[in-house]
Amino acid sequence: MLTSIAGKSVVVTGASKGIGKGIARVFANSGGKVLVVSRHLNEAETCAEELRRAGGTAKGHAADVTSIGDMQVMADAAATAHGGIDILCANAGIFPQAKIEDLSVEDWDQVMATNLKGTFLSIKSCLPYLKKSGQGRIIITSSITGPVTGFPGWTHYGATKAGQLGFMRTACIELAKYGITVNAVLPGNILTEGLIALGPDYEKSMAASVPLKKLGTVEDIGFAALFFASKEAGYITGQTIIVDGGQILPESLDALAQA
Ligand code: NAP
Repeated sequence: MLTSIAGKSVVVTGASKGIGKGIARVFANSGGKVLVVSRHLNEAETCAEELRRAGGTAKGHAADVTSIGDMQVMADAAATAHGGIDILCANAGIFPQAKIEDLSVEDWDQVMATNLKGTFLSIKSCLPYLKKSGQGRIIITSSITGPVTGFPGWTHYGATKAGQLGFMRTACIELAKYGITVNAVLPGNILTEGLIALGPDYEKSMAASVPLKKLGTVEDIGFAALFFASKEAGYITGQTIIVDGGQILPESLDALAQA
């Protein structure tokens, strides 16, 4: 049994839906006081309201992770609402697909700004409060795509997800003196609203390439993040957990077929 995170102040970016919402739900159910962040206040607040109805403590906040001004206001808002910041889940990300020949410079820049610069800006802005916490925790949502695997149309996306890990490996050294740990969760294919909208056939075809024969839930990512946030994970920093049902392991289609 892990020591409870009850009463800790948690910021989750990109939390109005998808994986971020799953992380927010897991932390709120565990007694964390959660700031639910997305660019659209009504969607962030709708998620926060759901968490409150389930007995949690949560507040919606509108902010764009590509803006240092927004991130500073976000950090101050979390500290004002919940008495500081103990845990930051830098989760917001976008994944538009375009092969190199069709990929525009603008799309490249937008993915870099959201996924990579957004990770830096959210961490930089929450840092003064994480330092005060004395046992701050930063959990980055990366991906298997980029650090481990590739997928056509995602050169820019994969570069940001691998870049987050490069950032993390120096950040964890710099921030260790403040008692802050920095770790990353690498999801495989996760059953978000966006994927569910593509229909059961698509879900089935995706699940076929996973040894566990199912897609992950958003809570599966939340539980891995919760572990990194726990007191018991306090000596772990600069590390990754792959949460993918074994997806990266089969060395060929035959390896799956013969199992
Ligand atoms: P999603 O369902 O599309 O949700 C994305 C969230 O991020 C939304 O809350 C969105 O809200 C917010 N967001 C987007 N741009 C933002 C910005 N500039 N500033 C603040 N918030 C922003 O995405 P997801 O699939 O859950 O992905 C979440 C993270 O998991 C990403 O980092 C992604 O790379 C990673 N991931 C996902 C999968 C998967 O299978 N889904 C697999 C591996 C990794 P607004 O639009 O209101 O801002």
